[in-house]
Parts: sequence; structure tokens; C-alpha cells
Amino acid sequence: MNNIIYLDNAATTRISPTVRDAMEPYLDNLYGNASSLYSLGRESAKAIHKARADIAEALHCDLREIYFTSGGSESSNWAVKGAAALAAKQGKRHIISSQFEHHAVLHVLQGLESFGFEVTFLPVYENGVVRVSDLEAAIRPDTGLVTIMQVNNETGTIQPVSDIGAVCKERGIIFHTDAVQALGNIPLDLSEQSADLLSLSGHKIHAPKGVGLLYVNKKIRLAPFIEGGAQESGRRAGTENVAGIVGFAKAVQEAVSGVESKRRKLLPLHEKLYREITKLEKVHFNGSPEQRVINNLNFSFEGVEGESLLLMLDMEGICCSSGSACTSGSLDPSHVLLALGLPHEVAHGSLRISMSGYTTEAEIDRLLEVLPGIIEKLRAMSPLWERIKNRS
Ligand SMILES: *Cc1c(COP(=O)(O)O)cnc(C)c1O
Repeated sequence: MNNIIYLDNAATTRISPTVRDAMEPYLDNLYGNASSLYSLGRESAKAIHKARADIAEALHCDLREIYFTSGGSESSNWAVKGAAALAAKQGKRHIISSQFEHHAVLHVLQGLESFGFEVTFLPVYENGVVRVSDLEAAIRPDTGLVTIMQVNNETGTIQPVSDIGAVCKERGIIFHTDAVQALGNIPLDLSEQSADLLSLSGHKIHAPKGVGLLYVNKKIRLAPFIEGGAQESGRRAGTENVAGIVGFAKAVQEAVSGVESKRRKLLPLHEKLYREITKLEKVHFNGSPEQRVINNLNFSFEGVEGESLLLMLDMEGICCSSGSACTSGSLDPSHVLLALGLPHEVAHGSLRISMSGYTTEAEIDRLLEVLPGIIEKLRAMSPLWERIKNRS
């Protein structure tokens, strides 16, 4: 797997060398169970404590507000189910979210609907951004929870979560945000943001897969998500993933301190991709060009089928992702692109390019070298292309 051009960093990222070095002792000699009383176990407990303190410092919160989990999906499941239960105790069974949340939120909300909760899914419009005025209009006396992501994983568009948080705070509504795609791409300061609950994942920021966290503001007392041992203050049982947690803390520190340098490095690459790809015929750039993270670009090519495009890029050693939900094994186009108002057939021909701090200009140039030819070839095979081409 040499010479791979990896442009799917919104799906997962490589482990950074410093993260790997930080983890190594805990994969090797320091394998004690953090709950054990002998010194080998205490080493693990100390490492977890330091990781928690380092993350709290980097994100500006109290270390007691951090709960380690297995990743973004678990964190959001816990946040939404837990907060819905708290709200229901006060007789509040209305939840507000957006149409293009990650499935870890969306499917939980659909489950809650079958238990008698009512959910309002706010529109995200063509620019892929929710409007605070829509949120305000949707709030009811029985609204107990708002869950809206900070950065969408397919379009890269940034949501106005500070304003959303302020509205929720004023109305006494619990606010959860999935900030998985925000960390490392935009500044994340928990002391400035009125999120009560916030999900993060390690493998999107160069830590290993299977570790993440849920930030739980001190005011909120969520019921335990996994019951059993006393780990994570008795709220999330299970022997801790010590190496993963240590690596995650290192990755959080690097992500937070590296936001500016990553932006400086990727901005010219973003501009080049945007400039060159929008020159092609019948192409759409999806989501606001301004209100976005710059590591992520999403295009739709009319008359092109997303799966075929990915396979042909793969033959060139280039890893990208499509807007069609091929990962879920279904041929339905992405719910995110449909929420932006794209017609089915256009959403089907989508390409997400997501960069990391490791992405080089040479890699982007290689993509730009092969992409036009691939698009042309696929369109030449498409029975629809002639008709699309002649449509104004
Ligand atoms: C990847 C991702 C998740 C899921 O995180 P996991 O750690 O893979 O469970 C949730 N939300 C967003 C926005 C993501 O990009």
C-alpha cells in the first residue's frame, strides 16, 4: 500500500508518529489494569489522569467533565439518549435537530420518536447551514434538547453553534453538539461555547480508532451509559483503553495547537482544488464556500455515478469518498446532500475530498491531473450524459 494518495480524512486518519510513541509503553510493558492497586496498575491510572488533565487544559474545561468512550458514535448515543431521558423527567419530550446530522445522532432520534418523543429536523438549505431563526421558531415549551453538529462531515459546513448554544442556555434547554469534524479544523474552546454535551472522536485527529470522549457540563447529571465497574466515575463502565486514551490526549493537544498552521498549509490547496474542479463542465460545489472548514470539499458531477468515480480513482491509488452512502451498503444517495436540496441523480455523482495536515500539493496535483479524464470517460459511458449536456 505504498504511494497511496489519501484524501478521505473525514472518514479516518493515519496515526501520527508522536501519538504512536506516546502509546507505545502502554501497548508494551505498562499493561496494568488501572483499577488494580499495585504499582503497575497505578501507572495506568496515572496515565489516564494525565490524559484527562491534558485534554481539559487544551479544551478549557474541568477534567471531571470529560468521559472517555469508544468514539464519536458512542458519545453521541450517550448524550442524546441520556439528555432525552433527563428532559422527559421534566415532562419535555420535544427535541430539535437538523436534517443532516451524523447517523449516530439521526438514528438515535428516530428510535426516540418511536418512544413518544417528537423531533423537529431543521432544514439546512442549499448552503448546508442551519438558521438560528428557524431554531427559535421551532422551540416549544416542551422542548428539552437541541442536538446540532458543529461541522458536517460530508459538506464541511460550519453551523452557528455559539448562537445556538446561547439560545438554548437562555431557554433552559440542554444543548448537545457533535464536534467530531470541528476538532483540529477550527478553534474549539469549551469555556466560550455554551454546549452542555459535546462529542469527540480520536481517529479523525490522528489517534487510533475506538477512542473518543463525551464532554458533560458539570450541571448535567447523565445516567451511566454502560453499567458495570466504577470506571469514568461510575458512568461508563469497562476496563479503560489506556493506550488509546493516552494517544487520544496527545492527538487532541496536537489538533488544538495545530489549527492555525494546518489552515495556512491547506488554504492554497483548497483554493486550487476549488478553482480547477469548478472549471469542469456541469459541476456543483456543495455547501457554502465561506462558512466551512477548509480541509473538506464536496462536488457533484452531473452524468457521473459516484461509485464508479471512486473505483476509477482507486485504480490511480487515490482514496476519496462519495456522497452516495456506499458505506452503508445501500444505493440511496446521501441524506446530507439530499438535505441540501440536490436532486437524487446529482447527489449520486458526488465526490468528497478531505485533506489532513499530511496532504501535499503534489498529491492534489496528481488528483487534478487524473480527475478530468475519469469524469470524461464516465460521462462517455453514461446513457444520460448527452441529454444533460444539452440542457441549459
Ligand atoms: C466519524 C464521525 C462520527 C463517528 O465517530 P466514531 O468515532 O467513528 O464513532 C460522528 N460524527 C461525525 C461528524 C463524524 O465525522
